[in-house]
Amino acid sequence: MQSIQNYINGELVSPVNQNYLDNFEPATGKIYSKIPESDSDDLELAVIAAESAKSEWANMPAEQRSNLLMKLADAIETASEELARAEAIDNGKPIAFARAVDSYRSAANIRFFANAATQFSSECHDMGSVGVNFTLRQPIGVVACISPWNLPLYLFTWKIAPALACGNVVIAKPSEVTPMTAYIFSRLCIEAGIPKGVINILHGSGPAIGSPLVNHPKIKAVSFTGGSATGRAIASQIAPMLKKFSLELGGKNPTLVFADSCKDQASFDNTVSEVARAAFSNQGQICLCGSRIYVERSVYERFKTALVKKVRALRIGDPLVEETQHGALVSKAHYEKVYSYIELAKEEGGTVLTGGNKRTPEGRCSGGYFIEPTVIEGLSSECRVNQEEIFGPVCTIQPFDSEEEAVTKANGTEYGLATSVWSSNVSRCHRLSSQLDFGIVWINCWLLRDLRTPFGGMKSSGMGREGGLEAMRFFTEPKNVCIKY
Ligand code: NDP
Repeated sequence: MQSIQNYINGELVSPVNQNYLDNFEPATGKIYSKIPESDSDDLELAVIAAESAKSEWANMPAEQRSNLLMKLADAIETASEELARAEAIDNGKPIAFARAVDSYRSAANIRFFANAATQFSSECHDMGSVGVNFTLRQPIGVVACISPWNLPLYLFTWKIAPALACGNVVIAKPSEVTPMTAYIFSRLCIEAGIPKGVINILHGSGPAIGSPLVNHPKIKAVSFTGGSATGRAIASQIAPMLKKFSLELGGKNPTLVFADSCKDQASFDNTVSEVARAAFSNQGQICLCGSRIYVERSVYERFKTALVKKVRALRIGDPLVEETQHGALVSKAHYEKVYSYIELAKEEGGTVLTGGNKRTPEGRCSGGYFIEPTVIEGLSSECRVNQEEIFGPVCTIQPFDSEEEAVTKANGTEYGLATSVWSSNVSRCHRLSSQLDFGIVWINCWLLRDLRTPFGGMKSSGMGREGGLEAMRFFTEPKNVCIKY
């Protein structure tokens, strides 16, 4: 059975303690590889490697750093089919999705920040005849990048790329649940000629390696994506250490459908398709998924009927089959958690319109963690199912009567990550953009990405932003230089 290895000082190595965890294929429920349960001994080796690589990488001309990152992006592109297949096996997502989203965007992330390395500039504050200030933006040093399991390599590279582009060295920890593509990525770093120690990847669980990593005194900044509870725990540990941190956390994202988005059949069909995509992409396991659907009452019944029809038509099955649209949930624990929310919805008075069941496909996937895409009606906005992040293929649908009511309901959870608004009324779209308390407001679209934009949430959805200049600023220390004439 394959054993994943850590990547330290440019080499693939076993964990010092020789302890390994089981890695499951969620579509079959079977163990298919081993992953290092790294601990502080491995961390010390990674810190030594990163410290010794730090100065050369920070002082390398930006163009040279950029060229190396471009080579890494090329290597990801060349390996894109291998990566897509590995992601589908490790995570349970359909291979077509892994190809179009995970592999493609991992290379795009690296390429985008490789360009940013040569194009980043800083401010100058002119004091006229008195003097001038300019801002130096220097690398922070050794930084930690911690990512979750839902878009494994995509979110891993989304952090690592800007950190490296700014001249930092990285110790990264992928989720223990989906380690495989980060392991392949280690090999691609070697192939691309990334200097030893510039990227170090430690595998293992949150308590064994994640926590020591963020708390290590040589780690100067932490970029974390994961659940809000983990984010809070990390913040409470490292805030007193005065480390810089950025937290991208959970969401409970509303989708607001106004009747004027459904004026003709084509726009109605498009809205239904996109709302379904927003709810169920990646089995609903995207922090941005729209899991609370609010529809203006005049089109509610028609919209609901069309949505249910669309969702029922999704092809569930083996993630490695090209036609599959809905794969397995990532782990047994997560599968049980998601299912418990369907049971809770019934207790809270909800009616399951479609889905609601565990699914056991025949053949190789009979032991897999599949849940049907589920739409639930009749729940109050205040109930737990509409307040807590489920992070699975479960969404609710409710009618609303006025724009004010839609905004109140949309804003009525502790989260503030993303929302989408479907309306052809331009004034309304502008009004809502300012009234909705979310870090990302999509108008007549969902998950339309531009890597230059600020990415992240407010309220319990996080602190700080990623993307474009926000990421470049996070991964640099601004130093004002004041010159008196
Ligand atoms: P977790 O918070 O459980 O884990 C995230 C990462 O942190 C994993 O690598 C995990 O390791 C690690 N970790 C766990 N405990 C600690 C610790 N004490 N110190 C340091 N690291 C630790 O989240 P999930 O992996 O379950 O991911 C799902 C969550 O991520 C959802 O809430 C989702 O909304 C959120 N998310 C947010 C996004 C955003 O951009 N806002 C994007 C994508 C997801 P291990 O897996 O080994 O436990």
